[in-house]
Amino acid sequence: QTIGGAVATATHGSSMRYGSLSSQVVEIAAVLANGTLATFSAASDPHLFKAFGVSAGRLGIIVKLKMTIIPQQAISRSKQDLTLARFADQVTATQEAYKAAKAAKDNLAVQKALFSVHETQALWLVERDTLWRVDYQHLFKEPEEVLENLNFSMDPTMHSFSGPNDQTVFAQATKAPLRANAAMTTNPAYWGVVYSAGAQTYVRPGTFETRKAYMSVTEATTRISTTLAPYIQMEVAIPLEIAGTCLKEVNKVVYGRGSQVSRDFRNPALIRFVSGEPFYLSPTHGGPRMYVNIEDWLTLSGTPNKGYDQVLKTFRGPKCQGRLHWGKGGWPEYASCFDGATEYPDSWCHFGCAVQTLDPYAKFEGVGADRTAVWTWNATRNGTVVPFDTCCTDTGFSPECTCASRTDCHA
Ligand SMILES: Cc1cc2nc3c(=O)[nH]c(=O)nc-3n(C[C@H](O)[C@H](O)[C@H](O)COP(=O)(O)OP(=O)(O)OC[C@H]3O[C@@H](n4cnc5c(N)ncnc54)[C@H](O)[C@@H]3O)c2cc1C
Repeated sequence: QTIGGAVATATHGSSMRYGSLSSQVVEIAAVLANGTLATFSAASDPHLFKAFGVSAGRLGIIVKLKMTIIPQQAISRSKQDLTLARFADQVTATQEAYKAAKAAKDNLAVQKALFSVHETQALWLVERDTLWRVDYQHLFKEPEEVLENLNFSMDPTMHSFSGPNDQTVFAQATKAPLRANAAMTTNPAYWGVVYSAGAQTYVRPGTFETRKAYMSVTEATTRISTTLAPYIQMEVAIPLEIAGTCLKEVNKVVYGRGSQVSRDFRNPALIRFVSGEPFYLSPTHGGPRMYVNIEDWLTLSGTPNKGYDQVLKTFRGPKCQGRLHWGKGGWPEYASCFDGATEYPDSWCHFGCAVQTLDPYAKFEGVGADRTAVWTWNATRNGTVVPFDTCCTDTGFSPECTCASRTDCHA
């Protein structure tokens, strides 16, 4: 992962205050399609900055980023043992409080509702119907003032399990073809035990410096996963207004009467909450969302994973309305005939206008062109279809035009 790629895809973040990594960007320098180097900031060009803040590689090549940083702190991590159904109840309570506060235009109550899941994460062990909710509390102290309650730093292996370790970076060349091992294929319950044992180290309660407090995939885990248990990772971002309702629906699909769906999962899923962002292509454009990351351990071996497919379709369906993460899998299988005007109704055509300005000859169209035709923009004016560029102004998509859906998909 590069910092340019992470920002281009609205990657990372688990906060109702700080958004994704893109929200920390102050200035972006990029090489454009015409070969020039340009710099964008919120002050110099708010429209193009909102486009470049999450660009999915469609606008140019980011070569330099200026970002805000926050000093390390001491952070306490706590854990609750739940089931998906109980977590869905908690999220529904947040969802309802948020909706009521918004309807009442009560900003303080909105903040309170958001704070109830600020930095909350959950590891959902699907096969076992176990969910660990993890919350973080800032102690407003320097890390040096707080002793970690356990210190594994003498043992490099344990250290790499307990948090990021810059000294242990493995080569990640993988041998094709990637296949799930036989034990994994035949024995989901066994792997449920293996994964829950492995994941315990990520969630044990305690007080840590910031960088170790938050969950992150370590080098050791990545190496084990890529060699022993390769997977494809997909992530969806669900509006907070329906997040609890969505989880209840997923609970029905996975654990409802007669369902065998949980048997098709091995790796734990990760749930996190991210505040709304102004960037046109941020999955949280328009308001806060709950992200759910699920992993498919089977399809890489050439066998379709039916249960996984059912769950991903539920997340992408009407009850959840999940937007796909730009930097993960699922394209084009779960976004075939992607209709940006439906998925990003308030911002898709603003981004299209930025493309018209910065890349009029579609040099950066890339794989999005042939695999999903994702980069498609249509406009109407007074109900009549008009050339898209006639609706673009210096500040984005003209309010006199309507950002129209693709028609080729509905045929
Ligand atoms: C093991 C693993 C764990 C992950 N964990 C998380 C996670 O916890 N949270 C999360 O949100 N995501 C996660 N991801 C997704 C991943 O972090 C992002 O997809 C990644 O950061 C993209 O960076 P990259 O450099 O690999 O970009 P690439 O995969 O090379 O590119 C991704 C997109 O960004 C564009 N891009 C890349 N570099 C630039 C640039 N310099 N300028 C403009 N556009 C550019 C590309 O054109 C492409 O569209 C994970 C991915 C993996 C493989």
